[in-house]
Amino acid sequence: MSYKVEKVHPYNAEQGKKEQVTHMFNEIALRYDLMNGALSLGIDDYWRSDALKELRKYRPQHILDIATGTGDFAIMAHRILHPEKVTAVDIAEGMMEVGRQKVKAKGLEDVISFGYQDCAAMTLPDNSFDAAIISFGVRNFEDIDRSFQEVLRVLRPGGVFLFLELSTPGQSPMKELYAAYTKYVMPFVSGLFATEQRAYKYLPESIAAFPQGREMMLILKKNGFRNIRLRRYTLGINTLYISEK
Ligand code: SAM
Repeated sequence: MSYKVEKVHPYNAEQGKKEQVTHMFNEIALRYDLMNGALSLGIDDYWRSDALKELRKYRPQHILDIATGTGDFAIMAHRILHPEKVTAVDIAEGMMEVGRQKVKAKGLEDVISFGYQDCAAMTLPDNSFDAAIISFGVRNFEDIDRSFQEVLRVLRPGGVFLFLELSTPGQSPMKELYAAYTKYVMPFVSGLFATEQRAYKYLPESIAAFPQGREMMLILKKNGFRNIRLRRYTLGINTLYISEK
């Protein structure tokens, strides 16, 4: 099955989404952290750390951070969960290069390693991770079902899958406030950082098209996950999904 968000591309309708997403993130890699901070006023870090605390009870030793980008979720996972190993993967080498520098500066190279992996076709072994985590990556996937099946494959039985994704609030007045924010503020702030006009609109359009809430829980179920829970943050502008293999 394909989802509307898979048809929302950063630049055009002709090329594949994966190719365009890779290009866009490589292009903004050096400005990504700054842009994120400006768009969320730092609240994204609160969401990331609060979400990771949910994993404490699982005591994961081998964690896979998919769509790691510049590595903040991987670094935070190390700080909060103290695992033996974090494997951080992405399709945009430019983003991971920024992450590698951060990890090096913190002296964490022995714990956190980076590598190219497309979530829809990972070359990692079956049943090899205690936890798989993704922050703000799923909305950018070209094939969500295949990606979720790959996450399930690499998790060990009983392993946990956690992801965070931006969502659209359903209730007033946050609904109206957020609509104005995505229409005016988001494209303006993204425009200060991105160099290609079309990419400014990608963020709000992909958030609007992303399956959320119960719909996302059903997608997780269909792809083989169980014990699926969700938690909404900040009146619904971000949602955390947790499920198990
Ligand atoms: N997790 C980081 C964070 O919280 O800041 C980065 C999020 S960034 C918005 C989305 C990332 O998803 C990009 O670095 C992009 O390259 C990556 N991505 C998109 N499609 C992917 C795929 N199929 N497999 C792995 N990573 C992917």
